[in-house]
Amino acid sequence: MSFNPINFIEKTRDGVSHTADEFHEMITAVMDGSMKDYQLSAWLMAAFTKGITDEETAYLTEELANSGKRNQYPESMHIVDKHSTGGVGDKITLIVMPLAASCGCTISKLSGPGLGFTGGTVDKLESIPNMNVHLEQEKFQKQLKEIGCAISGHSDELAPAEGKFYKMRDVTATVGSIPLITASIISKKLAGGASGYVFDVKCGSGAFMKDINTARRLAEKLVVTSHKLGKKASAIISDMEQPLGEWVGNAAEVYEAIEVLKGRGPKETRELSLAVCAEMLVMSGIAETSEEGLKMAHTSMENGSAIAKFAEVIKAQGGDARVTEAPLMYLKKAEKQKLVKADKSGKLASLNALCIGEALRALGGGRLRYEDKIDHSVAIRMAKKIGDEVKIGDTILEICYNDESKLANALNYLTDCFTIRENAEKRKLIIDVIRQ
Ligand code: URA
Repeated sequence: MSFNPINFIEKTRDGVSHTADEFHEMITAVMDGSMKDYQLSAWLMAAFTKGITDEETAYLTEELANSGKRNQYPESMHIVDKHSTGGVGDKITLIVMPLAASCGCTISKLSGPGLGFTGGTVDKLESIPNMNVHLEQEKFQKQLKEIGCAISGHSDELAPAEGKFYKMRDVTATVGSIPLITASIISKKLAGGASGYVFDVKCGSGAFMKDINTARRLAEKLVVTSHKLGKKASAIISDMEQPLGEWVGNAAEVYEAIEVLKGRGPKETRELSLAVCAEMLVMSGIAETSEEGLKMAHTSMENGSAIAKFAEVIKAQGGDARVTEAPLMYLKKAEKQKLVKADKSGKLASLNALCIGEALRALGGGRLRYEDKIDHSVAIRMAKKIGDEVKIGDTILEICYNDESKLANALNYLTDCFTIRENAEKRKLIIDVIRQ
């Protein structure tokens, strides 16, 4: 019997589960056009409102991954991948990729472009002169074998049905469904070929998951679904109520990443990078415990092997590796600077990550339209973080910009993006770690 899209939608609408075969037929129909866009959007809304089971989430994930090419690596390579659900100032991939590789891990990293107000790793890496972040499959795999680490923008050949689903969800108000997000993220990881994943699920004003309960539900679903599909996985839930670290902006985040790889930089960026790296080392069998993984990663930062690995990756991908020695000389800096100062004394009580992400986009550091060109040099520095002591006249934000009218737009987001109160606690960065 041929696939009937109307029956498929009806079953989900009425809370009846689908089998693996039915998901296979559905994805085939989406790809060959016999399930029309309006039918796919109706199904997405049914799945969004009614939910789908853990089994169905796994079937959907597998079928999305099977819709295109799937990279295959021998299990013995223990390839691990890392995924962040997206946040403001999130430069952790830039750090963890060479850091974990310098400890002996093999890291295959396929990155998407920035989504909404969050920046993309590929955009950040493009601020390194001549760096190629769109590697051919063959070159990607060769580099992975030779230096244990490669990073590239996502190829359209991998999980093409997921690309279609994502575009449709974006315009039908169905992005925020935990099973659909899970299938979207893991299908791309499955197609990428790694055997273990570490998820960094962001939680707070600068993340897609605004509260801890939703972040936890997503983290658990990501870990459970990965396991159902035969992959190792763990998820760190980390705070995104304020931007991560000191800098937000493409070139500026590369600068901060280089500092951290040298064992310097902001404490919180170091803390999360070390924690993600330790998970990867345990997952690939290099460390027995997270404590041992943390120690190994720390040593790699201190003895120079982490930054040396980053230089090796940049060189292998055609970039100017001198950036690792003298980042301020080789990374672009914006021409002008504007300081936003405290109008009273106390403690910094809030610093809205979403507003800072939007302000960076207004400065030209992110995209409003897919075809927009990014200005890699613009940036915002957080001179104070939540819980810090503030005196009247202290700088809270340093804005590095090129264009006065863009600055005026950015200031609309920045003037009310922080509050100062008598008392405020510092925030805990790592909220929880979910393992199976
Ligand atoms: N990131 C993804 O890759 N997919 C989603 O659905 C949401 C965030």
